[in-house]
Amino acid sequence: MSGILYLVPTPIGNLGDISRRAAETLAAVDFIAAEDTRVSVKLLNHLDVKKPLVSYHEHNQRESGPKIVERLLAGESCALVTDAGSPAISDPGEGLVRLCAEAGVPVCAIPGPCAAITALSVSGLPTGRFAFEGFLPAQKKERRQRLEALAGEERTMIFYEAPHHLRQTLADLASAFGGARKISLCRELTKLHEEIARMTLAEAVSHYAETEPRGEYVLIVAGAEERTEPVSLEDGVARTRALMESGLRVKDAAKQAAEETGIPKNKLYAAVISEE
Ligand code: SAM
Repeated sequence: MSGILYLVPTPIGNLGDISRRAAETLAAVDFIAAEDTRVSVKLLNHLDVKKPLVSYHEHNQRESGPKIVERLLAGESCALVTDAGSPAISDPGEGLVRLCAEAGVPVCAIPGPCAAITALSVSGLPTGRFAFEGFLPAQKKERRQRLEALAGEERTMIFYEAPHHLRQTLADLASAFGGARKISLCRELTKLHEEIARMTLAEAVSHYAETEPRGEYVLIVAGAEERTEPVSLEDGVARTRALMESGLRVKDAAKQAAEETGIPKNKLYAAVISEE
């Protein structure tokens, strides 16, 4: 009979957040697959758990994944851990779960720390419907396309971001959604310097023009307002012009403004061109 793959969440900062069940599982399995064995050894030492470790990360998952599944099929049990938080959520694991599902190996997810859900719950923004977006694409073109596709998203959105990309990402979000949109910047969650800053995107851009971003961030961005009254052509043209000022070509600006306002893009395009 095959063993079980356990997805074991680990603390996102505060070691006290490891659950009893997570610790018991790490102590009970035959081996542990870790994103970075050096990081996980620290947690295992803290828990006084000694287990054989194998490495499973973004760059070796093609070779490592099938080997782990082979051991599971032979009857061993395995716990998958990443550097912090829930495995498979913007972390290695998705591929291993798929391999297990295909091979008929049972997978058991243990609930626990996840930066996205921790941030959403404390954000002060609507939590009833949300869209997890993880990291935005790094490539300019894909990033712009993703943001364009999100322009009319009415659900609260969750983004992960590294500190050295924060300024650029705030600027991109402000140009895609408008400076008045609300954002909660959730920094260093569960750590000594935890900070929840609630403001508009325009305020966030100017705040971080003067303050060096430090630590880890989850960005919770309010969804687009539900449209109750039709937007006037005049306002649609003004929005198109604002997007052009932020660097979009007229065609792309009209397309995005059309998604946001519901006015056909050809109408916006024609109105802007006729005013030139
Ligand atoms: N799987 C993890 C989870 O469940 O939270 C997320 C891993 S992802 C590679 C790492 C990103 O999560 C960071 O860049 C940051 O956006 C967010 N993050 C992780 N820990 C955080 C913390 N303590 N405070 C704020 N954001 C955090």
